[in-house]
Amino acid sequence: AVSTGAVPPGGHIDELLSRAYRHAERHREGAVADYIPILAQADPEAFGLCVADVEGGLHELGDTRTEFSIQSISKVFVYALLCDAYGHERVLDVVGVNNTGLAFNSVVAIELNDGHPMNPMVNAGAIATTALVAGDTPERRWTTVLDGLSRFAGRALEVDDEVYRSESATNHRNRAIAQLLGSYGRIEGDPLAVVDVYTRQCALRVDARDLAVMGATLADGGVNPLTGERVVSADVCRDSLAVLAASGLYERSGEWLFEIGLPGKSGVSGGLVTVAPGKAGIGAYAPRLDPAGNSVRGQIATAYLSRALGLNVFASD
Ligand code: GLU
Repeated sequence: AVSTGAVPPGGHIDELLSRAYRHAERHREGAVADYIPILAQADPEAFGLCVADVEGGLHELGDTRTEFSIQSISKVFVYALLCDAYGHERVLDVVGVNNTGLAFNSVVAIELNDGHPMNPMVNAGAIATTALVAGDTPERRWTTVLDGLSRFAGRALEVDDEVYRSESATNHRNRAIAQLLGSYGRIEGDPLAVVDVYTRQCALRVDARDLAVMGATLADGGVNPLTGERVVSADVCRDSLAVLAASGLYERSGEWLFEIGLPGKSGVSGGLVTVAPGKAGIGAYAPRLDPAGNSVRGQIATAYLSRALGLNVFASD
């Protein structure tokens, strides 16, 4: 494969990946999420790191084939599918693109903004996004989501039933958020049916390698570099990455951008996807989280790679 310039060829990247891994592995701070009961069973030491470049090259280290539920990271890809279907203006109007500065599951953020969900990376905006997925029944909407996310991953993804059941039994807050949005007329149809589709999308099983490939698809202007399939348009990738830059790491998005300089998205199960536009996707899995809900080792390893590979989009050399 022809090198894209910034991601160095094979041997060198494997060496840098290994250094990033060893550097992050020393960190044991943070805590595994337990507000969804089943997530508390994750192995806190699990750690996988994968870089997928836009030429289809994969570089992996550690537990890259350990599956976990995708959780919030699904929000990016459902949003991209929706942007592809509805276009820039409509999605901007209905879901918004501004950081709330508040926790991902904040109800206050909705109240402060006349029921507007603000951005698709908080639960309110993600639920509003899932509500717009085309289909006359929840089952059809679910099929659209499942097919779309599978095309991003380049393989047929499946729901982790245990996670789905565990979250369904405890997601009072997401149901409250959906009903609040419904009370403001911000989602049509049955809010609880929307939460059910959202809960299933969060329970999809992926591994760090899948995240890297999904990220590489956004890096590659919407073409999955492994399958060669176009999943969304290049314009949609650009818009989705802008949203990630503003809100991908919850209320720590500013710090993340300052340190790493790349759009990324984390999830409470410990996954983290980062996108170097035109170059590569980075997938990480390590379940210990910082207080905002972001993988500690994932952030440290990605920061290392961003610097070592010269990926920061704000750097001029
Ligand atoms: N399914 C989780 C929730 O809705 C996702 C949260 C996250 O990963 O931030 O609470």
